[in-house]
Amino acid sequence: MHVMKKLTTLLLCLALLACMTGCGSGKQEDKPDKPQRPETVQEDERGEDGEAEAEEAESADGEAEEGEDKEAGETAGDKDSQTASKPSHTHSYKSKTVKATCTKGGYTLYTCSCGDSYRAKETGALGHAYGSWKVDKQATTSAAGSRSRTCSRCGDVERESIPKLTDTSSYASQVVALVNKERAKAGLAPLTAVSGLNSYALQRSKELESVFDHVRPDGSKGPDYVVFSLGYQAAGENIARSYGMNDTPERVMEGWMNSEGHRGNILDPDFAYIGVGCYVSNGSYYWTQIFAG
Ligand SMILES: [Zn+2]
Ligand SMILES: [Zn+2]
Repeated sequence: MHVMKKLTTLLLCLALLACMTGCGSGKQEDKPDKPQRPETVQEDERGEDGEAEAEEAESADGEAEEGEDKEAGETAGDKDSQTASKPSHTHSYKSKTVKATCTKGGYTLYTCSCGDSYRAKETGALGHAYGSWKVDKQATTSAAGSRSRTCSRCGDVERESIPKLTDTSSYASQVVALVNKERAKAGLAPLTAVSGLNSYALQRSKELESVFDHVRPDGSKGPDYVVFSLGYQAAGENIARSYGMNDTPERVMEGWMNSEGHRGNILDPDFAYIGVGCYVSNGSYYWTQIFAG
């Protein structure tokens, strides 16, 4: 029995010795590890030059060092949070104004050195400040055009297509037919379309784009001078401007017939000749009727 007790004691001592030896050797290994820290920094520098070298260094040093790095990081973090959570801290905010833009709202950001922040004085987005439309590609009777406008604040460009133009080549003769239909209803003789008056009417329609008036862009008053120079003794002029997909000879005649002065020219018994012009530009229709007698 005594022998057994002694053995047990001996075993315990051995275990303690083994433990002490093990722990001792472990500590001895730790010591040279610590001065190796600067090497970790060097590894990072090497990493910039070549990734292959950095990878080799990592695998050679093993996991022990990574673990130490983590511990060191945690210790540093604990110190920071201790400083930040001092109960006596009173927030002191610095303000920074963020101006509103076309698409984003503005606000004032208040930030404390502790990291705490909040927003105030929030305003809505300004919206784009577009200038006037600029035609990039004129629409034709065979293809659609396009136009764009630019925001003077942020430079954003908005694009839009201009619908394909209607074929207006027969519009002038359609207006002449409608005029004669109205004259027939009023018991008047039909007007005869004359090419000289047609060309002058088309010229006048083109002028209407810049100056929509009976006074021509050069300051002279139409249509007397030109019509009289062609050998006629009486002259009259109707003009119209329209925009949209419903610009047709029927619509423009409807407008003129509902206006006393224009209807007076269409149904004037002193006129025997007519010229009609229809000019389309930037989606607008410019119409001219030239009467002569
Ligand atoms: Zn604070
Ligand atoms: Zn804008």
